[in-house]
Amino acid sequence: LGAPAIEAFQHADAAAVLPRPGAESDKYRRGVVGVVAGSDRYPGAAVLAVSGAIRGGAGAVRYVGGGAAAVLARHPETLVSTGSPRAAGRVQAWVVGPGLGDTAAARAAVAEVLAADVPVLVDADGLRLMSRDAVLARTAPTVLTPHAGEAAALLGRSREAVEASRLDSVRDLAAAFRATVLLKGSTTLVASPTASEPVRVNPTGTPWLATAGSGDILSGLAGSLLATSLPAPTAASLAAYLHGLAARLTPTPLTALDVAESLPTAWRNTT
Ligand code: AMP
Ligand code: MG
Repeated sequence: LGAPAIEAFQHADAAAVLPRPGAESDKYRRGVVGVVAGSDRYPGAAVLAVSGAIRGGAGAVRYVGGGAAAVLARHPETLVSTGSPRAAGRVQAWVVGPGLGDTAAARAAVAEVLAADVPVLVDADGLRLMSRDAVLARTAPTVLTPHAGEAAALLGRSREAVEASRLDSVRDLAAAFRATVLLKGSTTLVASPTASEPVRVNPTGTPWLATAGSGDILSGLAGSLLATSLPAPTAASLAAYLHGLAARLTPTPLTALDVAESLPTAWRNTT
C-alpha cells in the first residue's frame, strides 16, 4: 500500500512544528518576512497582510509599497519602504499579491519578488500578475494560495469544475507550477509539489472566515511561517490550521482583523 492520498493536519501535527524562539534567537534569526501588498484601490489589504505576518512568528516584517502610512498607523513595528522590493533589504520569505491591483508597477514587483532566491508566497492579484515561467524558473519554494475562482483561472477551468473536484485541482496546480498550493474554501487543502506526499486537509475552518480580507490575513501568516524556515507545505498547513483556529476562538460576526488579533490565543491553544 502506498501513502494515503489525503490526510488531516491535526492538532498534534501543528503542535509539533509550531515555531518557538530559542534562547539564542534574535529578530533576524527568527526570520524577516517581506510583504508586497495593497494599492490606492485596495489600501486595506496592506494592513491586513501585515497584520497576519506580524502574528505569524517571524522576528520582523518589512512592508514595501504605497500603503506604508496605513500600515504604520496600525503596526508601528513594521519596517517600511517604498520603491522596489529588491531595494528593501534582506528577507527570508516574501508575500506578494493581496490588493496589489493590476498596474505595470504591480506586475514588475511580482516578477522581482519571484526572481528572489528565497521562499515566495503568491496570493490574490499576484496570482493574476505572475508568469508561470517565472514560477517554474525558481529554485526556492513557491506557495500559491488561490480560492476556487483564482484556481480556476490558473488552471483554465471553470470555477464549477474546480469546486466539483477540489482534490484533483489542488494536485494539478501543484504539478503545473511545481509549487505548494493551498486551495482555500469550505475545506482548505494543501498540496506539495512532491506528488507522492499526501494532500493535507485543514480541520479548523469555519464559514465565519468567509469575510472580506480574511485571505489577506492568511497570506501574511503563511509567509511569516515560511520566513521562520518551515518547509513550504508545513508552513501552509500550519497557517491554515492557526487561521481557522483563531477564527473559531473569535466572537462572531468576526472581521479579518479580529482573526489576526486572535492568533496569539490560537498559538497558545496549539502548544
Ligand atoms: P479569500 O477568498 O482570499 O478572501 O480567503 C477567504 C478565507 O476564508 C480563506 O482562508 C478560506 O479558506 C476561508 N473561507 C471562505 N469560505 C469559507 C467557508 N465556507 N468555510 C470555511 N472557510 C472559508
Ligand atoms: Mg483573497
